[in-house]
This record gives sequence, C-alpha cells and structure tokens, in this order.
Amino acid sequence: MSTIGHLINGRVVTEGGRKQEVYNPATGAAEKEVVLATKATVEEAIACAQAAYPAWRDTPPIKRARIMFKFKELLEANADKICELIGQEHGKISHDAAGELQRGIENVEYACGIPELLKGEYSKNVGPGIDSWSEFQPLGVVAGITPFNFPVMVPLWMYPMAIACGNTFVLKPSERDPSSTLYVAQLLQEAGLPDGVINVVNGDKEAVDTLLNDERVKAVSFVGSTPIAEYIYTTANANGKRCQALGGAKNHAIVMPDADIDNAVNQLLGAAFGSSGERCMALSVAVAVGDAAADALVSKMQAAMADLKVGVYSESSNDFGPVITAAHRDKVVGFINSAEADGANVVVDGRNPEVAGYEKGFFVGGTLIDRVTPQMDSYQQEIFGPVLQVVRVNTMEEAMALIDDHEYGNGTCIFTRDGEAARYFSDHIQVGMVGINVPLPVPVAYHSFGGWKRSLFGDLHAYGPDGVRFNTKRKTITQRWPSAGVREGASFSMPTMK
Ligand code: NAD
Repeated sequence: MSTIGHLINGRVVTEGGRKQEVYNPATGAAEKEVVLATKATVEEAIACAQAAYPAWRDTPPIKRARIMFKFKELLEANADKICELIGQEHGKISHDAAGELQRGIENVEYACGIPELLKGEYSKNVGPGIDSWSEFQPLGVVAGITPFNFPVMVPLWMYPMAIACGNTFVLKPSERDPSSTLYVAQLLQEAGLPDGVINVVNGDKEAVDTLLNDERVKAVSFVGSTPIAEYIYTTANANGKRCQALGGAKNHAIVMPDADIDNAVNQLLGAAFGSSGERCMALSVAVAVGDAAADALVSKMQAAMADLKVGVYSESSNDFGPVITAAHRDKVVGFINSAEADGANVVVDGRNPEVAGYEKGFFVGGTLIDRVTPQMDSYQQEIFGPVLQVVRVNTMEEAMALIDDHEYGNGTCIFTRDGEAARYFSDHIQVGMVGINVPLPVPVAYHSFGGWKRSLFGDLHAYGPDGVRFNTKRKTITQRWPSAGVREGASFSMPTMK
C-alpha cells in the first residue's frame, strides 16, 4: 500500500505521525494511506515557510510570474496523471476531473499577471510638492485548508495568487483524497519555486488547529462545510488572523412558467448530478412556479434520468461516479429516506444502483424527489449527493422568499424567457453568485467566488481581484522632498488642502 506524505521545504516526507486509509470510492477498497501530520510536523512546515519568506517577498513580481507560467505548462503537460489521481481517490469521471483541472489552471493564468495586479495606486501633488501612493505588500506565511470535492481546483484558487503576491504558503488538503493535491504542489516546486515557499501538510484537526494557533501564520483561507468554516473563522479571528472561510450550500433554481423546459431539464441534469452532486454550486433544489411548470419539469426530468450513467471514473461515457465514502453514501440515502418519510414523492430512486463490477463502491444513483416542502430536513440541510428535490410554489415572489429564507446563499439560477423577471431576480436575490439560464454560475478566474449568508464567513471572496486583496495589505506612503533651504514652520492644525 503506498503512503502519501507531506511536502516540506521541497522534500516529500512520509515518516512519523498517525496514518489513515485512503479509499478508491469506486471499488470501496482502501488502496493507499496518508500520513496525518503531528503538531511538530506542521510547526516545521510553518518554520520553513517563514524562513523562505524574506527572499521570496523581495523577488521581483515578474520573476514570480515566470514560475507561474512554467507551472501552467507543467499542469497541462501532466493533465492525464492529475486526472487519474483525482479519479482514483475522489471518483469523479475523467471528463469532469479535466474540467476541474482547467478551472484551476485559469487561476494560475490570472496569477501570471501579478506584475500588473500589484501596480498599486499613485497620486501626484496631493499637496504642494507632495506625492502619495498605495502599494500592496505580502502578509508573510499564509495557510490554506481545503475540502475533498475539488482536490486540485480549490487549492489552485488559493496558493498561486498567495505566492504570486509574495507570501509563502502552508496547505492542508483534504485527508480523503490527498494525492492529486500533493502532486500538483510538487509540479509548482518543479517549476522553479525556492524550497519552503509552498508546503503541504496532510492531516486532520490536529494539523488545522496548529495552523490556526501559530502566530507566524498571518492569514487563513478555508473552503469546506459550514460548521467547520465558522469554527475556522472565529478561531482565526480570535487569534488575530485575516480569514476567509467558504462554507456549504443549498442552491435553488427557479423554473418559471415561461421557461424553455427542455433546456432547463438538460441544464439541471448536469448541475444536479454532475460530480455526484458533490459541488458547492450543485443545483439541488428546483423551485417550480405553478403546477404546469412543475408537472412538465418532473415528467421530462424523470424521462431524461433514465439515461444517466453512474460508474467508475476511468470510463468517460459515465456521467458521474460514486460519492466519497461509505459514511457519506449512508448520509445521502438517509436524506432520501427522511424526505420519503416526511411525505415527499421519490420519483426516481437512486438508493440501490447496480454498477456491474463495482458492487462494493460507494454509489448512489440519480434521485428525483417531488413535492418537497421547506419544513423537511432534506430541504433544510445540504445533502451533497446526486439528489434533486422539487419544491412547488405559485409565484416568483414565493420562490424568491424561499431562497432568501434559506441559511445558505452560495449560488442560484433562474430559468426564464422574461428579461424583466430575470433582472428583478438577479438584482434582489440574497445570494452571492447568480445565473440567468446558466445553471452553474461559477465566476471565471478574473472575477471572484463567494456566497452570502452562512456560505461565506469573511469580507473578501476567493480568487480573482478579491484574492489579490486578501493576500496583500495596503500600505500608503506620502512623500515630500523639501527644496534645499526651504523650511516650513511647525503647524499644529490638521493638514488640509483648503
Ligand atoms: P469539511 O468541512 O469536512 O472539511 C474541509 C477541511 O476541513 C478538510 O481539510 C478537513 O480536514 C478539515 N476539517 C474537517 N473537520 C475539521 C475539524 N473538526 N476541525 C478542523 N478542521 C477540520 O468539508 P468536506 O466534506 O471536505 O467538503 C465538502 C463541503 O465543502 C461541503 O459542505 C461543500 O459545500 C463545501 N464546499 C464549499 C465550497 C465553497 O466555495 N463555498 C467549495 C467546495 C466545497
């Protein structure tokens, strides 16, 4: 059984620490093991990042950018291996893994523009002979803590920009599928990064708590479930760190009476069941406005779902793979059971899918549940599985109120042909990322990603322009060079330009 270790100061370290099994969710077998870092191991990684910081901070941005250009080339050249590692441990199908990698690469491309992004702001003659400018300086050691569902993309939201800004980094990936994350960080090392600038420590709560409590760590980016996001945010803040903590979601799609239902069905299929619904932007609730729209949606969706193919990652004709663990499969099935017990109608039942040759895999088939109500547990909580629930309402206002009342506010979408309704929706809905006939409105790398309400704790969104701000602190300098012999007297009033 191979052992997955840490990347510390440019070296892969596998000795020491507790170990945990890493499963192939398609076979249900533990095929690898990962070393869980002790407090001492994480402290060593932080010390290496701290030692690498002064020289990296002073490395010209154009040189940092060149390493990012090389990194992008290596990611593209090694795409097949990266997707294979994602598939083995996460289970997502190769075409979906390739999409995840591409989205990650686009964040590296954005970081390649760091000389432009760090130009700062300059004002000449803010007073007689006085110039003023703002510059954006790195923070020091930055930490990232990431979830299982995007083992390559979410880390790439974080460290390319943090490092391009002049910080050094310690990443704590998900212990459930760590290989692709570690391999990608090794590629950045290979691209020419000095030792200690990127470090990866695998581990669990012990590793996370060490990062949160060490005063050398100046900022923490987190992506994961809401209870942990809240814990990370409050602890990091109490310890004086800058923090952005992105949490869970329950993304609703409104299907208006005038929507092109065939198009909505196609879009919902991919957005609800792609990646087994294990995306924080997955559309997990369809809110149908009026019974006619609801009936059409449910019957067309039911018919389309007959063709869904669930299976192993390496067969590219499959639509989606298993969920991450046996425990998670049981949780997803538990939500389907509870919706049924609460009176909802399970129209397509994915509780016992047949996947020939992979009988022990953690599979749940595509599931469609109609007549779900907001009181149901399956509606209130994030399921994070291939389950689409349909809630029936009478008006668009009712649909919007439902979305606004939910504790999460990550993504949402409206399917309609009515521009006025779409504009009203996007203007007023209390959600951070909105799609109009676009089911997965994940912002491109040169915008920023973030939900509202309990889907994000912190002020700045992830990556894009907010990523530059998160990873730097503003310094504003005001300068005057008095002419020889010209001296002003002391003034005790507040300096103004009046
Ligand atoms: P998770 O919260 O279980 O784990 C995320 C990270 O936190 C992992 O690195 C894990 O090791 C660590 N962690 C877990 N328990 C901890 C504890 N008690 N103390 C300290 N650290 C702990 O999340 P997950 O199951 O890996 O990922 C799925 C969740 O992530 C879903 O809720 C999903 O919506 C969310 N997610 C959100 C976004 C977003 O951008 N908002 C993106 C992807 C995933």
